[in-house]
Amino acid sequence: MKASAGGYARAESVGHALELLAAAEGQGRVLAGGQSLIAAMNMRLSVGDLLVDISKISDLSGVAVGDGALRIGALTRHAQVGSDPLVNVHTPLLRDAVSHIAHAAIRNRGTIGGALAHADPAAEFPACALALGAILHVDGANGARSVAAEDFFEDVFTTALNEGELLTSITVPVAENGEVQVLEEVARRSGDYALVGLCLVKRSAGHRIALFSVGPKPILAKGAMAALDAGDLDAAVESLSAEIDPPSDTQASAAYRRHLAGVLLRRAVARLKGDVA
Ligand SMILES: Cc1cc2nc3c(=O)[nH]c(=O)nc-3n(C[C@H](O)[C@H](O)[C@H](O)COP(=O)(O)OP(=O)(O)OC[C@H]3O[C@@H](n4cnc5c(N)ncnc54)[C@H](O)[C@@H]3O)c2cc1C
Repeated sequence: MKASAGGYARAESVGHALELLAAAEGQGRVLAGGQSLIAAMNMRLSVGDLLVDISKISDLSGVAVGDGALRIGALTRHAQVGSDPLVNVHTPLLRDAVSHIAHAAIRNRGTIGGALAHADPAAEFPACALALGAILHVDGANGARSVAAEDFFEDVFTTALNEGELLTSITVPVAENGEVQVLEEVARRSGDYALVGLCLVKRSAGHRIALFSVGPKPILAKGAMAALDAGDLDAAVESLSAEIDPPSDTQASAAYRRHLAGVLLRRAVARLKGDVA
């Protein structure tokens, strides 16, 4: 099936993109890497009168460090995130996430901003953003604003982005000395979406645990975090099981996903302690 006919406009700048979206009166669709949007349009799951192509806005791409944070432009492609030296040093969790996302062709086109705005509950980057305590930066007709990752993901494919707004970048605190960041997931085949995934970050302030593919949006498992801070892994696994409400589908039952979440937490903690490579 092909996408329904509609217009196309290439935005020259963020301001131009916002003008195009405003003129489309709710019928504009932001086109970044196109890896999710075009597939959804072909299946008629997403329709719009105007595709606003932001892919050539160079200001929205790249990685920089300053003021204790790493800023990653929304148009930075997955492959760039995976190979960037600053990401490698300051947020290895994002580097590691890339190797789990789809296949090389998709990683060469898909953007981190697109993955965050798309908010697939099975995607890696939204959960990484939660685990890292990232801030998402948004621009729109009413000006720029910043949203904590905890407030950004609202439901399946639903975020705090308002109609006509653009996600422009994400900032992540740089890893402190001794910080450990671990991502664990189980997928049926390499490149498939995860059946369950888990991000674990250990900082001087305590542990942060975010899960994906266990409900309508990525979740921060606060009970399990507190139990790990208290040094009780068994209690953390028990708490995790109560904090998630995973779906049953053709890929896995809810009970199996709940079991996997506990297994992944134990694996992640073992890696954190250096017990496994
Ligand atoms: C076969 C296949 C397998 C995949 N497997 C995985 C996987 O295992 N893990 C994973 O995480 N992802 C996976 N993906 C998704 C892939 O990572 C996408 O690239 C990503 O989700 C969307 O990024 P994009 O730049 O292509 O966005 P687009 O497809 O261009 O856009 C996606 C959505 O976000 C909106 N959007 C994009 N950028 C912005 C912005 N800056 N501001 C506001 N709104 C914006 C669009 O309007 C659209 O609604 C897979 C995709 C395919 C086709």
